[in-house]
Amino acid sequence: MSLRVGCPRCAAPVADDGDGGWACPEHGVVVPLWRPATASYDDFASHLGHADGFPTYLPWPLGPGWTVTDFAVVADETRGGRATMTCVSGTSALDGPVDVIVISEEPGTGLGARIAGLGLTGRTDPGEEVGDGPPTVKVRIGSFPVGLWPVSVSGSGGEWDRSVVVGEAEGRWMWLVLRPASAILLLRDDWILRDVSETGPQLVALPFGGPAPPW
Ligand SMILES: [Zn+2]
Repeated sequence: MSLRVGCPRCAAPVADDGDGGWACPEHGVVVPLWRPATASYDDFASHLGHADGFPTYLPWPLGPGWTVTDFAVVADETRGGRATMTCVSGTSALDGPVDVIVISEEPGTGLGARIAGLGLTGRTDPGEEVGDGPPTVKVRIGSFPVGLWPVSVSGSGGEWDRSVVVGEAEGRWMWLVLRPASAILLLRDDWILRDVSETGPQLVALPFGGPAPPW
């Protein structure tokens, strides 16, 4: 069990920069990304340790048969957490296999844009579409509603079928990436995202495992 280190914005391997940090050949010195080889309870505990209180959101409760298939955190010891992602996967009657990815990040981190498939465009953040007109859908963090707006991924070079919606919560971007694209219809206003960073022992009951999404 261990988390692998990488770049938050691309798949290039990072190297120790000799000064206690990590450097990507493409993006220079970065706050590193930590991701498990396969999702497990022990690695999730390690993830929460790296995040050091930065929120990690999961849809709550998970539907029957759904599992946590992936997670990652962007953090270092001096600056703490900058971003987290989780993926839960299951099946719906209409869509078959579905992945729901939730990313919370400080602006400029670029993890959400990468996972959404916008990384090849050089973008690290969503654009003016967020907050333009009424939101397409709302989810809740506890009792707090979070409006989400669609972000176009056409022409971004990504090869997979997905929907991307983005909003803002507590000064951070909240990205939801759903695969296939039609799974956006699963989102309803009563969807609840729970910050599990403080949850503790209940996490033992979370089902982990299954293939992680490509990103
Ligand atoms: Zn990079």
